[in-house]
Amino acid sequence: MTEHTFATLASRWYERNARDLPWRKPGVGAWAILVSEVMLQQTPVVRVLPAWEAWLDRWPTPAALAGDTPAEAIRMWGRLGYPRRAVRLRDCAVAIVERHGGEVPDRLDQLLALPGVGTYTARAVAAFAYGQRHPVVDTNVRRVVCRAVAGEPDAGPATRPADLAATEELLPAEPAAAALASAAFMELGAVVCTARAPRCAVCPVESVCAWRASGQAAPAGPTRRPQRYAGTDRQVRGLLLAVLREATGPVPHQRLDQVWQDDVQRARALAGLVTDGLVEPVGEESFRLVGDGPPVPLPQP
Ligand code: SF4
Repeated sequence: MTEHTFATLASRWYERNARDLPWRKPGVGAWAILVSEVMLQQTPVVRVLPAWEAWLDRWPTPAALAGDTPAEAIRMWGRLGYPRRAVRLRDCAVAIVERHGGEVPDRLDQLLALPGVGTYTARAVAAFAYGQRHPVVDTNVRRVVCRAVAGEPDAGPATRPADLAATEELLPAEPAAAALASAAFMELGAVVCTARAPRCAVCPVESVCAWRASGQAAPAGPTRRPQRYAGTDRQVRGLLLAVLREATGPVPHQRLDQVWQDDVQRARALAGLVTDGLVEPVGEESFRLVGDGPPVPLPQP
């Protein structure tokens, strides 16, 4: 297989079959794409769609979000899960205003230096917002490349420099074509070459897939046990946050005590929210979402 063949097949398929997602539409800006990439981490598309629309309605620019409080970011995040992402996204917006005049930077090193923007997100923004040539490697892409190129059933859990190098080798030289191929690889992993049930019979790269060429059956991905939620600290944190999100001021300890009977677990969950920078104590007896109060003025971009 030539690298060119792989990217061409995937890109042609993507142009005809890509899901119609709003952050992929022409003219969507870098900020909207950055928000989508942060929300999509560990969260299904169907849950992100309404949250992304609402977020951008309220904060269409980094400056708009930077001018609001972290508490409001947590409120808007609602029940998307992993709410530290909301605070990090606001930290990111503040940094964009302070360092880049309110414009999402297009240089990879500057993107990587933003709070909460990691290896994957920085490259995704550079490729999808600015049409640059970078390997964009998430779990799905790692799996597709591992199967199709290396002929192995599944990649390991973490993105390694070798994953970036292996994916970069598949990208066309021309930046726009490379960005298109990156989007195609991601889509392929999300909807065709899935972890548990790859649909090889309808896969656009089947003819060049090393795994298929090896004559082995479609790989059965690892069986993921559903994560237990009921009774976990995550559930208690969610209940505490729900009360604090609804409140318009500090919430007395006694009110929070009502959300969960187990004193030790409740205290541990609350302490975790404070440690994670989502909640802060007010005096001796009350708590509130972090920074809940009048926003602090920021320097003008
Ligand atoms: S042929 Fe099957 S294993 Fe190979 S990339 Fe396509 S879906 Fe994945």
